[in-house]
Amino acid sequence: MSQSIQISTKKSNESSTGKRTQTSTELNFANGWSQQRWDDLATPLKQVDDAAVQRALQKDRLSIDDFAALISPQAQPYLEQMAEKAQRLTRQRFGHVIQSYAPLYLSNVCSNWCSYCGFSIHNKLRRKTLDNNEIDAEAEALKKRGFDSVLLVTGEAEKTVGIDYLSNAVKRLKPKFSQLAIEVQPLTTEEYGVLRKQGVESLSLYQETYNPASYAEHHRHGKKQDMVYRLNAPERAADADFLKINLGILIGLTDWRQDSLACALHLRHLQKKYWTARFGMSFPRLRPCAGELENPLHISDRELLQLILAWRLFDAELDLGLSTREAPEFRNGIARLGITSMSAESITQPGGYAEDAATALEQFEVSDERKLDDIKANLEQQGLMLIATDSHYFS
Ligand code: SF4
Repeated sequence: MSQSIQISTKKSNESSTGKRTQTSTELNFANGWSQQRWDDLATPLKQVDDAAVQRALQKDRLSIDDFAALISPQAQPYLEQMAEKAQRLTRQRFGHVIQSYAPLYLSNVCSNWCSYCGFSIHNKLRRKTLDNNEIDAEAEALKKRGFDSVLLVTGEAEKTVGIDYLSNAVKRLKPKFSQLAIEVQPLTTEEYGVLRKQGVESLSLYQETYNPASYAEHHRHGKKQDMVYRLNAPERAADADFLKINLGILIGLTDWRQDSLACALHLRHLQKKYWTARFGMSFPRLRPCAGELENPLHISDRELLQLILAWRLFDAELDLGLSTREAPEFRNGIARLGITSMSAESITQPGGYAEDAATALEQFEVSDERKLDDIKANLEQQGLMLIATDSHYFS
């Protein structure tokens, strides 16, 4: 490949305006990303040939260019080889276990307007934010179902679900669960620090898309329009000592190959800067919801499989998570090839575990509605164990 992909590492010129200059270790991803031309990410994908794919398959440590080769259309005939290697790497690093978790939706109140989401501010749906009793009831219902690891999810509404609300929820939930993760609005370093001290270990924060034009098109109102603030949120969480950071793109907003390359650049930047942190990757595909985006860009099951395998080959240490957005058949098929965590029995409406809430409160439709025990049984048939807590991550 003639030209390697890398984000510019030019230092900020803030010093010329009297502000301090960032050193290379302080450099945040958004600085470099602002100098990256989106269209340039298409070039390495177009240049891939058979030899590049075969080279990438042979390597132990893959470059960004190798990753480009593996997600390119030219790698499609090599899926079997990719699957074999992905499976081997996953078993070597993670053994035969997959961790289960459940999302706990605390609130569907949101101040933003995202074209693809049922929680958008202008959507007419019943808004609900759980109070203390309801949080406790959800916790009890999840414990009864066998969960010990939960992902706390909210819309993005500072006034309703700001740091005070989140901190209170964590205080109530931490004694009940071994692992707490958050998927909430981007916070400040200090706010992440508050939650970290209370025992939250892990952050999920998906950029949705790294394509500036697409980001502007789909984020139409609210603080989420600030792409840079979101881009730098994983670094703020890592600065606050979060142990694990999950990244991802929302597949369907723009070209998934270019977006995945951008995400790989982001991951490598973070790994270099925060070399003691652990990282994860998710692959949410757009699902029907009460939002208005009717025709998301399509990615086939085969392409999604290719993408997941490519991530595993790119980084054998990555936690690869698969949510209930995907159908049972797909989840069963991919489980043994590289996945290390799976959500289950997900209800995306606040209060939905303890009571039957109206489906109109949902963020998106769930595809895999199987019970935890059914998922467990299927994985056991494949020689895999579904575990409630992956304690060795965080000991
Ligand atoms: S994606 Fe997040 S920020 Fe956007 S409307 Fe939905 S909940 Fe709000």
